[in-house]
Amino acid sequence: MKEQIYTIPINEALEADCDCPFCYLYKKLEQDAVDYTLGPAMMEPDFRVITNEKGFCKIHIKQLTEKRNALSLALIMDTHIDTLKSLFEFKNDGKTFLKKQKQKDVFVSRLTGVVKECAVCSRINHTLSRYYYTFIFMLKKEKGFLDKVLSGNGFCIEHFCGLSEAAASELSDKSFKKLFEPIIEIQKNKLEQHHTYIKKFADSFDYRNAGKPMDAPKDTLTKTAKLLNGEFYNFLNKD
Ligand SMILES: [Zn+2]
Ligand SMILES: [Zn+2]
Repeated sequence: MKEQIYTIPINEALEADCDCPFCYLYKKLEQDAVDYTLGPAMMEPDFRVITNEKGFCKIHIKQLTEKRNALSLALIMDTHIDTLKSLFEFKNDGKTFLKKQKQKDVFVSRLTGVVKECAVCSRINHTLSRYYYTFIFMLKKEKGFLDKVLSGNGFCIEHFCGLSEAAASELSDKSFKKLFEPIIEIQKNKLEQHHTYIKKFADSFDYRNAGKPMDAPKDTLTKTAKLLNGEFYNFLNKD
């Protein structure tokens, strides 16, 4: 069944010990996308077109360089630089680089377009967006799925936003109330809990509280950062 490609990983993520099942899925997709980029994608003309055009963001170029597959990365960089160089070619009178405001705007917007893109991010986000919609499908069709979600840890804000977007587009008013409002409620509680902890954490710096035990978990700052911004394991925990 085609749907199982997406439903199995979602169930697995919900059962995993993590703060956000979509961060868990993201991490897996990211590892796959980085490996794919330097491996099988080298023989895939369609994906080579994407890497040639988009290049990579700072996080993913770091991961790609760490893979130590120098030849593949050099070949990708070679063709990506060709794309970048093409942006610098203009038909002009040879005296001025770009004469008209419109030409300058086009130059800047094309350059900005390339800089903002990342072939790995776009591959991950494409599948992640499918996961949001499959999650809502499972909410409607799979018995016990809502209970499983409600007994979990909720989501980070970024992924809750993606999930809410899929829910708002896919669920009728009645279904949204029945199936998604309880999830909003647990997310609200999660936010409330972290807010309480972060206030207590900040209060512990007050000189009047010196020597008193802190009434919040020690990793409050990290946990709250993960709630607000999702997992950030790759570039903070390494090196
Ligand atoms: Zn997340
Ligand atoms: Zn990226």
